[in-house]
Amino acid sequence: MDHFAYRSGTLHAEDVALADIARVVGTPFYCYSTATLTRHYRLFTEALSPLPHLVCFAIKSLSNVAVLKTLGDLGAGMDVVSAGEYLRAKAAGVPGDRIVFSGVGKTREEMRIALEGGIRQFNVESEPEMRALSEVAVSLGKVAPITIRVNPDVDARTHEKIATGKSENKFGIPIARASEVYAEAARLPGLDVVGIDVHIGSQLTELEPFEQAYLKVADLTRRLRAEGHDIRRLDLGGGLGIPYARGNEAPPLPTDYGALIKRTVGDLGCEIEIEPGRLISGNSGVLVSRVIYVKNGEGRDFLILDAAMNDLVRPSMYGAHHDIVAVEEPVVGADQQPYDVVGPVCETGDTFAKARPLPALAEGDLVAFRSAGAYGAVMASEYNTRPLIPEVLVKDDHYAVIRARPTFDEILSRDTIPDWL
Ligand SMILES: *Cc1c(COP(=O)(O)O)cnc(C)c1O
Repeated sequence: MDHFAYRSGTLHAEDVALADIARVVGTPFYCYSTATLTRHYRLFTEALSPLPHLVCFAIKSLSNVAVLKTLGDLGAGMDVVSAGEYLRAKAAGVPGDRIVFSGVGKTREEMRIALEGGIRQFNVESEPEMRALSEVAVSLGKVAPITIRVNPDVDARTHEKIATGKSENKFGIPIARASEVYAEAARLPGLDVVGIDVHIGSQLTELEPFEQAYLKVADLTRRLRAEGHDIRRLDLGGGLGIPYARGNEAPPLPTDYGALIKRTVGDLGCEIEIEPGRLISGNSGVLVSRVIYVKNGEGRDFLILDAAMNDLVRPSMYGAHHDIVAVEEPVVGADQQPYDVVGPVCETGDTFAKARPLPALAEGDLVAFRSAGAYGAVMASEYNTRPLIPEVLVKDDHYAVIRARPTFDEILSRDTIPDWL
């Protein structure tokens, strides 16, 4: 459920008409709903209660500081994968003891920034990283709390580019080697081993892979405890999928996911962390774009939009589907016709949808891409020197631009011509 709906014939974000925002801010733009972000965060906290837990929002899915503050003020933790994301969490007022640091290639500089600023734990992904972290911590006179990310070798049955829990993926240490690696971690002077971490992939539409992974983590917890480690925290990762094609998909709900967690690891007395990104941010955002031209092609019509693959790359990168709707509500029973929905970028891959049935649209009409809050704005680029598009946050009947569209002068001023040229 989200808070984007037609009212009086036009699509609203909460109580604000998207067409009104478009008039003031210009198109294209991303628009996020505070109520949806809040609702989705709360679904997880409710699903995990009464277990001791922390829901750490995966910042990489949507990293605007205003969004992070919205969630942080509710008590959310943050899952970061770079120093930049760490600093975003801090800028949003999230205390270090609610920030976990994931990622397969943390640099020593990133470790230093997080240790000095305060961190709940590092999710360590390899032995060399573990040794480097211990050294950095010792050099700062600190002890780094860690979990070790184990790779449970389960098939997440999702898109190959976002599956992370098979042994051939680059993530984590093989679960079969955990005893050895934990023993070394316990000997390193700069580390405090607090738990186990696992994350098997993104956009999972079934619970079964989670179940397989979490049962392996439960076994591992018992084994590591028997070997003398004080395993008191389990970070179970993110990855729960969302319905991108409304009406055709019904991925599991956070309540089912919470019940699964209780069933598999709930009796271990551990504090539970999860790192959902997409399920909190995905349906909390839309991308609003205007039709520049309708071009009649051979056997098909092209809807040429002012948004392109550089603004929303998921369709060209993952072949992902986004529902596209007209901002002005079509009359009930209106005829639909197939359009190829494309952007202006000079690549055939700049195609959002092929032969998509839509009501008749004309130059100047507004459309909205649904479920665009996650992995949308954060993956945008300035390819074709198209300015990064603005982000807008709605709350009830008001809205604010939370990242402005850069001017062409700002973009050009970042390039410098050497004095020998
Ligand atoms: C990407 C990622 C997440 C979030 O995944 P979602 O599918 O957006 O929930 C969580 N944890 C880690 C380690 C990740 O890499």
